[in-house]
Amino acid sequence: MRRKIIAGNWKMNNDVSGTVNLISEIKKELNGKIVNADVIVCPPFTNLETAYTLVKDSSIKLGAQNMYYEESGAFTGEISPLMLKNVGCEFVILGHSERRTVFGEDDQIINKKIKSAIKHKLKPIFCIGETLNEREKGVTFKVIETQLKNGLEGLSENELSNLIVAYEPVWAIGTGKNATPQQAQEVHQFIRSLIAKMYSQNFAYQLVIQYGGSVKPDNAKELLSQPDIDGALVGGACLKADSFVKIIEAV
Ligand code: PEP
Repeated sequence: MRRKIIAGNWKMNNDVSGTVNLISEIKKELNGKIVNADVIVCPPFTNLETAYTLVKDSSIKLGAQNMYYEESGAFTGEISPLMLKNVGCEFVILGHSERRTVFGEDDQIINKKIKSAIKHKLKPIFCIGETLNEREKGVTFKVIETQLKNGLEGLSENELSNLIVAYEPVWAIGTGKNATPQQAQEVHQFIRSLIAKMYSQNFAYQLVIQYGGSVKPDNAKELLSQPDIDGALVGGACLKADSFVKIIEAV
């Protein structure tokens, strides 16, 4: 049985004291509750060290929102996998649509980042998803297939044992307009069957595929009860402890 994973992508929100407050509140809200999911928080780089001091004695895990694929060197403004490991990160979000559209990351760069994360024992949360235009043109499956195949190019099933895929339709991110549970399930099922063809049935069965795109306390339960939806990557609703914890409880 796949364990559900709820991850909070804080994006460019919260300073150090905001990080202390939010993680402390999440811990307080979760205290004593039986949680059927793994919980990950992904604050901005500057707050990771502080975040780690707060989560290390809890069941909450730490992730980063991005990284560069080189270990060190003349890459002004970038953060390396070694640096993320050094401050206690276990996960890293890669290929988020904002990285693709605002910062011009393509499938080849994302593939290098996934390879580097795996080499350094960081667990990648690999985001894929179609734009509204692509959905309306009827090429959603084609886009997903291309992103998935390019992003995982050259990686074996063994190397991908800690992979998480996040299906995030771009039109649903930060818009308040989530995919319906049926729309999301249809794509998740497609991803799982494609992974089965690329690798094996067994690997596809155990792969965690999160849904992301305007997940809120009031839609989480229905989305998370779909057979191929194994958790959520949450943006806006993870910035308030009570809504993030309600999503975790929806599992
Ligand atoms: C995200 O940034 O990954 C995301 C899904 O954002 P939101 O939940 O705000 O749509």
